[in-house]
Amino acid sequence: MVEEVAYWWRGRLYSGGEAPPLAVPLKLVEVESVEWLCPKCGERAEWGPEPRCPLCGARCEPRTLVVEVPELVDAVEALERAFNRVCRARFRGAVALEPFGLFLPLFTWRPLDLELPDGSHLVGVYAGKPRFLKRGFRNGPTFELPGNLAAIVWSGLLECLAFEVEEPERLAELLSS
Ligand SMILES: [Zn+2]
Repeated sequence: MVEEVAYWWRGRLYSGGEAPPLAVPLKLVEVESVEWLCPKCGERAEWGPEPRCPLCGARCEPRTLVVEVPELVDAVEALERAFNRVCRARFRGAVALEPFGLFLPLFTWRPLDLELPDGSHLVGVYAGKPRFLKRGFRNGPTFELPGNLAAIVWSGLLECLAFEVEEPERLAELLSS
């Protein structure tokens, strides 16, 4: 296992120097992987019950190799790491949102479509005051948010992830750019 750090942003990996400001720091971990190679022409076969060379049809042979893959982090951890690159951020809690709930139109957030490393999507960001959550969720689970940013994440269900950050407006701008 190596402790090398890579940065992930919008489906791409970057090195430290070239990473965009909100890129998520990820560890690269070494895993063993098997590829099937043709003994005659060296072509790689698609894996199958009996992998064959796509060029000459010969039976391919397995070769074990070590590949570096980015660790998988969940949405909350990814966002916290990303936000911590530009401002101090603390995850404060999550509540489920009803997509067509009574209070939803009251909220003004910036719509986004950002893929996160775990495959979920950040669909919008709200940079504002804590009353956002208190007003919106008085009929459901509520929590008092001491900070002033809420990030909305789609991950199977519409979930509001709340982060306490120092400069919410700047963060919302970086996310939208
Ligand atoms: Zn071949």
